[in-house]
Amino acid sequence: MKFNFDRKSITFKLWAYFISFAAFLMIVLWFLQIFFLNNYYQAMKVSETTKLASIIASQYGQDDFIETIRSVSFTNDLYIHIETSDGTIVFSPVDAEVRKPYGYIKEMEMVKQELINNNSLNSSLIIPESTTGTNTLAYATFLHRENGSDIILYIFAPLFPVESTVGILRDQLFYVTVISLLLAFIISFYLSNRISQPIRSITNSARELSKGNYKIKFQGGHYSEIIDLADTLTYTSLELEKTYLLQKDLIANVSHELRTPLTMVKSYAEMIRDLSGDNPEKRKEHIKIIIDEADRLDLLVDDMLTLSKMQSGVFSIEKSNFDLVAAVKGLLDSYSLLVENEGYQIVFEAPVSVEVYADRAKILQVFSNLINNGVKYCGEDKTVIITIIEKSDCIRCQVLDHGMGISKKELASIWDRYYKASTNHVRTTTGSGLGLSIVKEIINQHSGKYGVESRLGKGSMFWFELKK
Ligand code: ADP
Repeated sequence: MKFNFDRKSITFKLWAYFISFAAFLMIVLWFLQIFFLNNYYQAMKVSETTKLASIIASQYGQDDFIETIRSVSFTNDLYIHIETSDGTIVFSPVDAEVRKPYGYIKEMEMVKQELINNNSLNSSLIIPESTTGTNTLAYATFLHRENGSDIILYIFAPLFPVESTVGILRDQLFYVTVISLLLAFIISFYLSNRISQPIRSITNSARELSKGNYKIKFQGGHYSEIIDLADTLTYTSLELEKTYLLQKDLIANVSHELRTPLTMVKSYAEMIRDLSGDNPEKRKEHIKIIIDEADRLDLLVDDMLTLSKMQSGVFSIEKSNFDLVAAVKGLLDSYSLLVENEGYQIVFEAPVSVEVYADRAKILQVFSNLINNGVKYCGEDKTVIITIIEKSDCIRCQVLDHGMGISKKELASIWDRYYKASTNHVRTTTGSGLGLSIVKEIINQHSGKYGVESRLGKGSMFWFELKK
């Protein structure tokens, strides 16, 4: 255990609260016991006596009236006496000898005066007894009222001095006070340590995290709230690490992607300046390369912009109803040059028409990106097969090729920005490395599903499904 003298620390605060609470309780107890015990005892006696008197009064006139008085008197150590207002004894205890029959004459007179003078239903007096120190509680009430001959019930009870009791209590209270303060001290230390120790460890871990140690684990300790906090922070550090790695990759990839075409542009421009400037044929060839590279840059920048706009939410999707089959057919027209001149085969299998509710331009962009990839990676047989299947709850679109395929290891990563599967990273295939990230983003915005099935050397089948 480590004591933290910081006055704002949990340890100090808890300790202070516990001690104050225990001290407050003790003060209240001391006060009540020592100063008010006597008053409390007398008040209790009066209320008890009043209750007993009302029990006796309720039995007045019944057969077992005398029995009731006897038993009440015996069990409660009371002297009970009933007399008419002119002094005729109605009831006096049989064992009057033992209970000093006339010992209460003075008290009886006093309480009788009080009762009659106040003209109240009952009255009680506490009469001090200087010789013995035992005060007397004298209580009187009317049992029966009839002009001139009222019947009055008197009850007398000894009030023993409480000083000796107070002495005992004081001793006990002293021990209770010491023990409770000690306990408050120990418990507050124990508790505060259990709370503050994990927080301290989290703070240390956070410090490590700020230095770039993303592998740090946050330990939560014993309380759900702190465990939650620690788990959240551990998760956050993992996410931060991912973002950091992505950012690193991104910069490396972007600069790499930009550098290659720029180097080409520069070297071919220099070539034209120094060598082929006067040779129209060579010059034309070199200028074509420059234009191709510029196109490549253009494509890269375009894709980067599209993706960043989509991810920042600038582009929202605008859905409408349209015939997907007709739209894809229209898109395929732009591939006719490729089919005619370069021997590619683009097969389209679909029902006559399929109505969808989606963003037309964006869905066509998805097709275009997938078909472009199919064309880029289709390999020897130069065939890309596009299929649209109408299912009961969704529309499934597939783009299949018989190319080199993608290894299992790389399947999960191809949807990441700037990722290029190593085996396919051939310079001749143009691409920004963003095509599939854009596909993923668009399908996500449509709350659709997407995926790929692929086997190395056999080909790949990219698919996505749009809800109906
Ligand atoms: P790129 O512009 O490089 O094609 P994409 O995001 O479209 O970027 O694709 C990411 C990577 O996934 C590609 O570099 C390629 O390695 C792999 N890939 C995509 N489509 C196919 C496919 N049909 N066959 C094999 N590999 C593919």
